[in-house]
Amino acid sequence: MIARVALPIPRAAPFDYAVPPELPVEAGHRVRVPFGSRHLWGIVVEVQGEPTFPGPLLPIEASAGPVLSPEGLALVSEVARRSFVGVGIALARLVPAPSGARVREVEPGEGPTDLTTAQARVWEAVRAGTTDVRALRRLPGGSQALRELLALGTLRPRYLPFAYREARKEVALTPHQERSVEEITQGIGLGRKYLLVGPPGSGKTEVYLRAARAALGGGQSALLLAPEVSLLPQLWARAGLAAGRPPAPYFGELPGGERWRTWAGALAGEVRLAVGTRSAAFLPLPNLGLLVLDEEGEPAYKQEEMAPYYHARQVAEARAAREGAALVLGASAPSVETHFRAERGELALLSLPERVVGSPPTVEAVPRGEDVIGPRLREAMARHLGAGGQVLLFVHRLGFYTGAACRCRTVLRCPTCEIPLVFHLEDRTFRCHACGRALRDPRCPSCGGSRFHLFGVGTERVEHEARRLFPGAAVARLDAETARDRDRILAALARGEIRVLVGAQMVGKGLDFPGITLVGVVNADGLLSAPDFRAAERTYQLLSGAAGRAGRGDRPGEVVVQTDQPDFYPIRCALRGDYLGFYREELRYREALRYPPFARLVRLLASGRDAEGKAEKLGRTLTAQRFEVLGPARLFPRRGIPRAQLLVRGDEGVVEALAAALPSLPPWLSVDPDPVWLG
Ligand code: ADP
Ligand code: ZN
Repeated sequence: MIARVALPIPRAAPFDYAVPPELPVEAGHRVRVPFGSRHLWGIVVEVQGEPTFPGPLLPIEASAGPVLSPEGLALVSEVARRSFVGVGIALARLVPAPSGARVREVEPGEGPTDLTTAQARVWEAVRAGTTDVRALRRLPGGSQALRELLALGTLRPRYLPFAYREARKEVALTPHQERSVEEITQGIGLGRKYLLVGPPGSGKTEVYLRAARAALGGGQSALLLAPEVSLLPQLWARAGLAAGRPPAPYFGELPGGERWRTWAGALAGEVRLAVGTRSAAFLPLPNLGLLVLDEEGEPAYKQEEMAPYYHARQVAEARAAREGAALVLGASAPSVETHFRAERGELALLSLPERVVGSPPTVEAVPRGEDVIGPRLREAMARHLGAGGQVLLFVHRLGFYTGAACRCRTVLRCPTCEIPLVFHLEDRTFRCHACGRALRDPRCPSCGGSRFHLFGVGTERVEHEARRLFPGAAVARLDAETARDRDRILAALARGEIRVLVGAQMVGKGLDFPGITLVGVVNADGLLSAPDFRAAERTYQLLSGAAGRAGRGDRPGEVVVQTDQPDFYPIRCALRGDYLGFYREELRYREALRYPPFARLVRLLASGRDAEGKAEKLGRTLTAQRFEVLGPARLFPRRGIPRAQLLVRGDEGVVEALAAALPSLPPWLSVDPDPVWLG
């Protein structure tokens, strides 16, 4: 027999190898093969009788067994094809490598029989509530005893990815929720698609959880996706309560061994409920009944960093269609594209019109003024903190000052990436948020000056201001820099120990903390300045999301938005919670300029020496073949590498047409079929 093995080599088709008679190899198995002077691991995509390669074939050396189901293989192949990368690269990046999970916590397994003194000591400590492996190892003879007890099965590893726990009572569904659950449940097994729209706090998550329970009850599996890791602890805890057992987690930052553990568990049919971020869209859950994407419009669902560029929503749709799972796209502010498709009947529209708990917050727009935290926001903070409430301050930029300019007016930029440097107070450096470079004593590249005027508002600065204004209140910051402590911060917020939370993007989404009564948006206008046709949509989503964090408990919520453009439609509509108003206006603009959903844009990214010249030439070639080409536009370099982009506009068939026009991509070119950021 011949196996076609996909290897992690750019642009290469799978290679033929001979299957030794003693090695049982099937499609979806990970195998090791000789390749030149090296040995590589790859994945078998096909086993067949006839070689496609005419010469003598080398044999497969070893097999690690199955890592992918046939459906999974087909899914990844499709994603690879759509984003113009070889299936070997796609598989290497989307399928985790087998590795052992490190045990961090243990719990009692079966009852103990004859224990040695050291074993008994460890066992008693676990019984008394010490589950942390490091603490147990410190007991006399602890390391060895722990190993023995794990081997005996007296103790077993406990894999709890998040410290966050919560106690919640089972709620009685509202009639709207009831109807949504019923509809979705009927779609399980039929591959039906739904858009579930409801303002924050309208009970969407509760609907996902009941639908998941129905899928599990029917012997199928369910997959719940959130756009950001920071939303997973709460989703994980709630899903665990609803299902009566903890779901398996899956996200990029999860240690490799635990990621593999979830993946292998799914493959073996043991994991039937999972929560995760975009990469979890590929989890090989058995007999998939339900797939949910919460806040489907979030750009974080898009893999933008490296090929294969995929959008978890697109992957989920392909999967639901292939496997007959019901697909639920949930949102308080759906993407214009998805809402448009729902209006045309491609998805069934379900709606939860109002909040189930609390009441809609009062929302007020105030001018930005001189101060970071203006007088009106400051007064509101004092009032809410005084009444025992918690405050969320939303800022969309990281760092302290987001810009620095020399007296000669030159803005300080990263020497390789050319984007403005951001001042961080923590270590007093000017940092590039693209490449991470940190400069301590920068000089002006034009005049050599070393004194800079600092401006702009980032999370650090707001944190600093909040501390200064409210010295008695516990202030914490949750952004990309403090993300490592996310779990601890969220737990402290839930316990009420943190009174003011300053946060970037991530805190504006699905967090559900009843103690938060005031949300302040520090600078709503900054969101609109992105050079992207979706800037208005992002502004609406972030503002309405942030506003939705206020007043989820019994006490009324209040939202204060600092803006100088309160009448501009994304801000005006977000302040009123008027999604449809925003949608109609935005749709008119998209139609006039022929942006999605009225056309499809594919992004061609040239990088390396003379990127712009190469893009220009490619653009001419494509134009001659009757493609509508926009650009080239020069982009900021990435890690010193020049970049330029072309956009190709067309109808649904444009990706296929491009694939035909570009049968083999030159190494300097990559293709993104669903670009989310066009800057
Ligand atoms: P969303 O996902 O739309 O933001 P959630 O499902 O998180 O909304 O619900 C908001 C809050 O209301 C949660 O604390 C949830 O437990 C609670 N909740 C949801 N549905 C009900 C209901 N039918 N009755 C009472 N409380 C509910
Ligand atoms: Zn840089």
